[in-house]
Amino acid sequence: MTIEYNHLRCIIDLDALCANYALLQSMSPESARTIPVIKADAYGHGLCECAHALESLRSRAVATGSPTTYAVGTAEEGANLREAGVGGRILILLGNQHSRDEALCLEHALTPVVSRTGQIRPLAAAARMAGLHADIALKFDTGMARLGFTDADFGDLVDVLASHPNVRPVWAVSHLATADDPQQESFVRAQARRFAAFVDKVRAAGFPVRASIANSAGLIGYPDLAMDGARVGIAMYGANPFAGTVWEEKGAGLRQVMRVEAPVYQVHRLGKGESISYGRTFTAQENMTVAVLGIGYADGYSRGLSNKAEVQIHGRRARIVGRVCMQMTAVDVSHIEGVKPGQYACVLGGDGDTGVTSEELAGWWGTIPYEVFCLLGLNRREFVG
Ligand code: PLP
Repeated sequence: MTIEYNHLRCIIDLDALCANYALLQSMSPESARTIPVIKADAYGHGLCECAHALESLRSRAVATGSPTTYAVGTAEEGANLREAGVGGRILILLGNQHSRDEALCLEHALTPVVSRTGQIRPLAAAARMAGLHADIALKFDTGMARLGFTDADFGDLVDVLASHPNVRPVWAVSHLATADDPQQESFVRAQARRFAAFVDKVRAAGFPVRASIANSAGLIGYPDLAMDGARVGIAMYGANPFAGTVWEEKGAGLRQVMRVEAPVYQVHRLGKGESISYGRTFTAQENMTVAVLGIGYADGYSRGLSNKAEVQIHGRRARIVGRVCMQMTAVDVSHIEGVKPGQYACVLGGDGDTGVTSEELAGWWGTIPYEVFCLLGLNRREFVG
């Protein structure tokens, strides 16, 4: 028997995911096929469930069609997708880092993104042993300074590729560092220029690669950078990368995919002058009614939200009072009629325009929607749509 350690609901709306994918694909030229980034368990939304939903776009009467390429983090994730029956190309963003990865990539026809020649040699050797060829993607560092080949590595890269013909580069990729900040457009443009130069050189060296540099913000803010396919994560899960910026409107129309509801365990009166929760960080200034909800930091709901975040109950907002505990959090419902144990409050998502957005929750939390989704998505999930 699986032990339930909480009673909250984490609901993933797969229709919203598909609608967001279709919206993002519509921002690209038809020749570009948008690549869903479903690494880290699809940012907490469910790796295989999301991939299957996106694949179903093929059979549904949706003009967008389904993705032809997916991106995950590790070879294990890629192997999982294959075992769940997912076809198409699967890019492994972290590439082959261990010898086990090479075997997985070959066995499951995965495409590792390589960022140093030290990854090409063992892959070539494993492919030779298996009598196979291996497709790879080449990662270029154009300004993120994380992973990727630089100008200084280029000669060596071409030599290694030329001497290992059973390894075939099929994509060239790079990653934008500042695409979600309209103030930093010049850095985006500089990265794009550096990348275009790398792509030209790779093609001139005899490798006819496809090219991808844009992430969600890169595609929404700069559709001319879609190239052969943007790699979209956060916007596909419904967060607007330009929320709170002058470009907010560009990301309009995305639907939040994750909704998290916490049960009301108890409703009680807190008299004027009485405090609530650990450390007595909140004292009632007047008589009030509080609802104790079944969610806390053990569920990924940060203690940093204490006395800050709001939830939605009965279509209205209620603010957290006192400290978030391990499995419980109290909210002020003095202004909301009829709140009772057994009902649910939305801590993320909700109905109408009082629902809690991921950008808002991330703001109270002092983080970004990516982290909100990854942490809340660790809870048991239900899939709808
Ligand atoms: N490409 C790479 C290499 C990434 O690491 C990520 C996410 O971190 C993405 C694409 C997708 O970015 P976003 O979620 O901002 O669309």
